[in-house]
Amino acid sequence: MPRLLLVAFAPADNAALGGFAEAIGLEGTLIAFEGEVPPADAAADALKKEADGFTHIAAVSSMQSKDVMARLAGLLDAAMVTDAIKVVSPTQFVRPMVAGSVLATVETMHEPVVITFRPASFPKVEKNGDKALKVLETTTSRTSKSGGAKGSRPDLTQAKRIVSGGRPLKDAATFEKIIGGLADKLGGAVGATRAAVDSGIAANELQVGQTGKIVAPDLYIAAGISGSTQHMAGIKDSKVIVAINTDPDAPIFEFADFGLVADLFTAVPELTEKV
Ligand SMILES: Cc1cc2nc3c(=O)[nH]c(=O)nc-3n(C[C@H](O)[C@H](O)[C@H](O)COP(=O)(O)OP(=O)(O)OC[C@H]3O[C@@H](n4cnc5c(N)ncnc54)[C@H](O)[C@@H]3O)c2cc1C
Repeated sequence: MPRLLLVAFAPADNAALGGFAEAIGLEGTLIAFEGEVPPADAAADALKKEADGFTHIAAVSSMQSKDVMARLAGLLDAAMVTDAIKVVSPTQFVRPMVAGSVLATVETMHEPVVITFRPASFPKVEKNGDKALKVLETTTSRTSKSGGAKGSRPDLTQAKRIVSGGRPLKDAATFEKIIGGLADKLGGAVGATRAAVDSGIAANELQVGQTGKIVAPDLYIAAGISGSTQHMAGIKDSKVIVAINTDPDAPIFEFADFGLVADLFTAVPELTEKV
């Protein structure tokens, strides 16, 4: 008898998890981390204790969930499917490969199955929010750690507006001032390229792309981002892409709905002032 455990890493995951439960056709039991999610090993250990008897354990794809769920799959000797975008049956899932240029249907050969899925590919169904919600207790409270503008920004995977910055942003303070400044004016989230993350300009959890977060906002503003295949793989479901780049031949302009050939250090603050 199939049983589905839905794991919420953040409150914003609940509606996407509801949509996944509907797609797979199983009644889901929701379990949530309250407060800061512990390091991946500890989080996977905590989940293993709750996973007994479940045939399917699912979470929204994020860098954090992939880290934790892969460990959980190892602990449970489970089959693992990452980044599912469609449920064909409880054992068959469609997932993108090669930066989204190929869609593969994969079949799991044994239970349990640990799944991460892309929230933009499933409808939002707010039905699990008030169900027998079991809370995994953790030591730090999410709210006590966050604060100021950064803490109140929407989750990247759920945000309607995202402002992202790339390598030219120089340092963390400049990134926060320029990219964070516009994001806050728009009530949006902040994203970054891997180049920005690798150079210490932006935090790891802000990385958007093939090996970062997959986003699907109404508006994605890319400032100082070249438009690599790996970055574009994470933003292709955005409704409107605006690119600001000094190089008129930057690949991002091929994908952008609106392009501005300009220096981001003048264009973005100007935009922030005018919004
Ligand atoms: C296996 C693998 C996985 C990867 N996964 C990801 C991923 O998930 N996400 C991701 O983002 N990358 C990923 N990458 C890295 C990716 O290939 C690129 O290196 C990266 O996206 C480039 O980031 P960038 O656009 O910030 O930097 P660059 O490519 O260096 O581009 C910077 C751009 O800024 C412009 N510019 C410079 N100065 C200014 C200015 N003053 N104003 C305006 N524009 C300016 C330049 O013209 C240029 O187009 C991955 C790579 C590999 C190999």
